Amino acid sequence: MKASIITIGDEILIGQVLDTNTQWIANKLHALGVELVETVSISDTKEAIVNGMDHAVSIADLIIVTGGLGPTKDDITKYTLTSYFEDELVLNEVVLAQVKAMFDKRGIPFGHLNKAQAMLPKKATILPNPIGTAAGMWFEKNGKIVISLPGVPFEMKGLVENEVLPRLIKIGGFPSQVYQTYVLYGVGESTAAEMLEDFENQIPEFIKLAYLPAPGRLRLRLTGVHADKSFLETILLEQGTKVAEVFKDYSFMIGDVDYVNFVKEKLIERNQTLAVAESCTGGKIANEITAHSGVSAFFLGGVIAYNSALKQNLLGVPLEVIKKHSVVSSQVAKEMVLGVKRITGANYAIATTGNAGPTLDDTNEEVGIVFIAIATKNKVIVEKFNFGQPREKVIEQAKNKAFEMLSK
Ligand code: ATP
Ligand code: MG
Repeated sequence: MKASIITIGDEILIGQVLDTNTQWIANKLHALGVELVETVSISDTKEAIVNGMDHAVSIADLIIVTGGLGPTKDDITKYTLTSYFEDELVLNEVVLAQVKAMFDKRGIPFGHLNKAQAMLPKKATILPNPIGTAAGMWFEKNGKIVISLPGVPFEMKGLVENEVLPRLIKIGGFPSQVYQTYVLYGVGESTAAEMLEDFENQIPEFIKLAYLPAPGRLRLRLTGVHADKSFLETILLEQGTKVAEVFKDYSFMIGDVDYVNFVKEKLIERNQTLAVAESCTGGKIANEITAHSGVSAFFLGGVIAYNSALKQNLLGVPLEVIKKHSVVSSQVAKEMVLGVKRITGANYAIATTGNAGPTLDDTNEEVGIVFIAIATKNKVIVEKFNFGQPREKVIEQAKNKAFEMLSK
């Protein structure tokens, strides 16, 4: 939400009156979290007001105008804005009665110029001004809000405090919003929520925690809304540190970093290379890596060995191992990862073998079972997972788990 303040009055331009309205309003808008993009002072002419409005609506969503609402001929803001918004002036009985009562109370005769103060734009929202004759006007057009207020400082202040700010707060969306995303692998949404119970109990009420789960990964987002942006940023950082502490033993990343970038950074930093041997993931892992630019710095390539014979011929998986343990087994995953490491010369490797389903292959493992092997410089880690069904989910989760295992 961007705002602009326009103060109208020749008295400001000739240096007779110091424009204090702008400063006072700017301060209020800032406290609310509205970004003020421009302030201008213009003359009491139709041309200046129209030009000022045209410019303001082009750069701001909220325009606050003060001045030129008096009953005298030189005050033309109301007439100009009414025609600018293609509105028409109608007698507002409420304002008329209020202005009349004010004059009666003070014993001042009520003339036609004063009655003209009760002629107000039909479509605009009229903001009552109990201490003056000029009511405030709230125009809305094409998503822009234009608020016209009297120039007299104490009248303007009363209207801002009692009418403008409460309405703006009601509309909402004005205070500063700061958010920070974290990515977590290998912890499901409900487990994460349990681990975060203590954290959530102490979280300030202006900060919200959102869980954004996706297969194999969970994004956590802390969003804060507060009028004071720098205060908010400090608190958000503090809270983020607490979240990081909860997941210090897991693959936890600050920012909306995806795992490929994470792995990429790690491997490039260590000057290491990676190769893949994919069975049930069918190239998804390689595909995910190569979707990122700059991966040639660490990614060598790999083998899609879907077929058992290919696992033997290309990766050197011994037939006896396949026969003895079945093709979906920890032993085959291990042979695959060592094989691809050997033939490519990579320092790191990933291998997958599993039953993605929906029908069972001639293996002794059930549908959804996937073995993932990770080979590092001097060790091989194989893990068994049951990703259930459907097929797409098994493949997607196997791919994500592989990256997660590699990021550890
Ligand atoms: P009213 O009819 O109630 O007088 P108005 O909208 O016609 O209100 P103006 O005639 O423009 O207001 O200004 C009235 C007086 O308010 C000015 O003489 C000046 O003293 C003061 N004033 C106007 N604009 C400002 C401003 N931007 N900053 C400080 N004082 C202002
Ligand atoms: Mg004036």
